[in-house]
Amino acid sequence: MTFHDFHFNQKLQDGLDAMGYEKPTPIQQEAIPQILAKRDLVACAQTGTGKTAAYLLPILHNIIHSDHRHLNTLVIAPTRELVQQIDQQVEGLAYFTGVSSIPIYGGGDGAVWDQQKKALEAGVDLMIATPGRLIAQLASGVIDLKYVQHLVLDEADRMLDMGFYDDILRIIKYLPSTRQTLLFSATMPPRIRALANKILRDPAEINIAISKPADGIVQEAYLVNDDQKEKLITHLLKGSAFSSALIFASTKEKVKHLGRLLPKLGLPSKAIHSDLEQNEREEILREFKNKQLNLLIGTDVLSRGIDVEGIELVLNYDVPPDPEDYIHRIGRTARAASTGHAITFVNQLDQRRFGQIEKLIGTAISKTDLPYGFHPSFAYNPDGKMKPEKPHHHHKAGNKKRFFRKRPGSN
Ligand code: AMP
Repeated sequence: MTFHDFHFNQKLQDGLDAMGYEKPTPIQQEAIPQILAKRDLVACAQTGTGKTAAYLLPILHNIIHSDHRHLNTLVIAPTRELVQQIDQQVEGLAYFTGVSSIPIYGGGDGAVWDQQKKALEAGVDLMIATPGRLIAQLASGVIDLKYVQHLVLDEADRMLDMGFYDDILRIIKYLPSTRQTLLFSATMPPRIRALANKILRDPAEINIAISKPADGIVQEAYLVNDDQKEKLITHLLKGSAFSSALIFASTKEKVKHLGRLLPKLGLPSKAIHSDLEQNEREEILREFKNKQLNLLIGTDVLSRGIDVEGIELVLNYDVPPDPEDYIHRIGRTARAASTGHAITFVNQLDQRRFGQIEKLIGTAISKTDLPYGFHPSFAYNPDGKMKPEKPHHHHKAGNKKRFFRKRPGSN
């Protein structure tokens, strides 16, 4: 099957051609006909499955064929990074169509809002917004949602995790009750089901099985206690020839700490977190995308949706709290069928959660011995019962293949 089988408006097909999309992904194959048929939809699918285009394409097709006078579609997404990435996909896909969109997210200064206000007054078809910012601006009365025909909730589970449940319900009160509602979520906990029951009408349901990590990702773990993690990260990264690597930590505090520490240890890097101004975050992401910045540190919020090509390494400084976040994190590497590496530091307390990750992905991840010169740590025991520490032998340095080619001249 190709996109031609959907018989999209030719200008939209031109956008697809320009973006180089030929074959619809599974979620696109299943969702597009339902959305074109005007059904409500609950779709369980993650970033990386092509879910964004799955809802954008039929909506854009619909907008082209409707009269252009009102704000037609509202997409709500959890973070400004995701809002921006959705907006970029609209720009690409809608390039030849004359359909316009506007991203609405917090953190900008007054000038940004003035600009957005002008755009709104000129008339836009599609708005992509974070819930908090949208709520704040709805009060101003400039945004009129009365004529919205399509509402999309993207990464609904993440929005609920971030505490946006009430904001979402408040936003929905501004929308007409006769509308099409599409809910996308990586997971389907009962809270999401309850939300769906509340705001959708007889939805079609699509479930794209959890995406296993791509085959091209080499995964390994180090059993290492916290007091040796800094030494280990320096050992692994220093002098390695990578142009793009991501380090994940599970809290903002740890991310900030690493952002201060790693440059001092000789690893040029930057941390991205919610305490930075929006323009600072954008600048860091830009530097990372164009490879001026080779090492970026962030939390799981960054793992959702960051779409940067050519990331060679993902290093988990700790085990993510939610096993599915592991898949999100390491999925930032080896995108588009290239190859990548994922390394996870597992301390004694995190073993049990790491075991759950191994269950979820259905394979044991190989444990690499600590290099020569490190204190031996502990024997892997994911079932939880702590055994007394048992020293185990490690190989001599150089026995294990190093991950990266060394830079010429380094040792
Ligand atoms: P998403 O899951 O929406 O974040 O999409 C993941 C990536 O796949 C994005 O970089 C999209 O541009 C890309 N993509 C989406 N659909 C297709 C397709 N049918 N063919 C090729 N690339 C696609």
